[in-house]
Amino acid sequence: WDGQDSSAQEEKIFVAVRVRPLNERELGKNDVSDWECINSTTIVFKNSLAERSLVPTAHTFDRVFGTEASTGQVYEEAAKKIALSVLSGMNSTIFAYGQTSSGKTYTMTGITEYTVADIYDYIHKHSEREFVLKFSAMEIYNEAVRDLLWPDGGPLRLLDDPERGTVVDKLTEVTLRDFDHLRELLSVCEAQRQIGETTLNEMSSRSHQILRLTVDSEAREYLGRDNSSVLTATVNFVDLAGSERASQTLSAGTRLKEGCHINRSLLTLGTVIRKLSKGRNGHIPYRDSKLTRILQNSLGGNARTAIICTMSPAHSHVEQSRNTLLFASCAK
Ligand code: ADP
Ligand code: MG
Repeated sequence: WDGQDSSAQEEKIFVAVRVRPLNERELGKNDVSDWECINSTTIVFKNSLAERSLVPTAHTFDRVFGTEASTGQVYEEAAKKIALSVLSGMNSTIFAYGQTSSGKTYTMTGITEYTVADIYDYIHKHSEREFVLKFSAMEIYNEAVRDLLWPDGGPLRLLDDPERGTVVDKLTEVTLRDFDHLRELLSVCEAQRQIGETTLNEMSSRSHQILRLTVDSEAREYLGRDNSSVLTATVNFVDLAGSERASQTLSAGTRLKEGCHINRSLLTLGTVIRKLSKGRNGHIPYRDSKLTRILQNSLGGNARTAIICTMSPAHSHVEQSRNTLLFASCAK
C-alpha cells in the first residue's frame, strides 16, 4: 500500500454518514424522506416546515453518501485508505454506527469484502514479500465476549499482556486461504450472531460484532534470517449494536438489561471517540467497557479510525436519525 503519508488529516477520526433508501415497509406506509445530501459533505434536514426546531438543519462531515451511493463508493471514499494502512503496519478500526435496520451490516459486510479483495490484489502484486492473513470474529453481548468461530466455547476472558495490551484469551484465529474462504467465514459469523425480536417488530442486532483481520508480512530475502522486515498489523471491522434507546422498544426484563449494557458500551465508545477526536492527552476511559478494551490498540495513538454512521431517511425515524448525526458530530 503506497498511500503512506502521515498528514494531520489522517490522525483525525474520519466521520462519514450514509443514508439508505426508503425501504418497502416505509414506502408502504407513505413515509417520506426528511434528508437531502446537497453535496459530498453536507446533509440537510429538509422537512423544516413540518418540524420547526432549534436543531441546525445542515450538518457537515468528512463525507456524506446519499441513497444513490453504492457500498463500493462508500468503501473507496471513506474506508479504503484507513483499512489498507494495515499493509504498512498500522492498526485501524472501521465502525458502523446507527439504529437497527439503518444499514450497518449491509455497509460493513461490503467494506470487509472490498478490503480483503484489495489486500489479495496487493499481495499478488508484491511477490517480494510473504504474507499471512488471519481472521477472527467475536461478539460482545451483555458485556460478555463470544467467539463467533467457536460459539460453544463459552465466554472469552480479556487478559492484559505487557507487550500486546489487551488480549482476547483463546480467541480462534483462522489463516485465510483466499477471498472465498473469507466469504464462508462471514456467513458462519452472520448465522451465529445473537439476534432478538423486539417490540419494534424487527429482528434487531443487540450485540456488537468485531471482525478482525491481522496481516503479517516479511520480505522474502530476509525469511529465516532476522525479523528486521517483519510487519504486523490489525484492522477491525466493527458492526455496533443498534443505537436506539432501550426505552424506545418498550420492552422489559432481559431486553432492558441488554439495552443498558449496549448503551454502556456505546456510551463509553462515544466518550473515548470524543476525547480522541479532541486530541486530548488526558485519561481516556478505554477500560470502562469490553468493546473499548478490545479495541484499545486500534483506537488512538498511531491507529487510524473511520466511523460510518448509517441512517434511514424516513420521517418516522427522525429522532433516531438526529441522535445518529449528533453522535457523528461529536466524533468529528
Ligand atoms: P442494520 O445492520 O443497521 O440493522 P441492515 O444492514 O441489516 O441494517 O439493513 C437493513 C435492510 O436494509 C437490509 O435488508 C439491507 O439489505 C437493506 N439496506 C441497508 N442499506 C441499504 C442500502 N444502502 N441500499 C439498499 N439496501 C440497503
Ligand atoms: Mg445488522
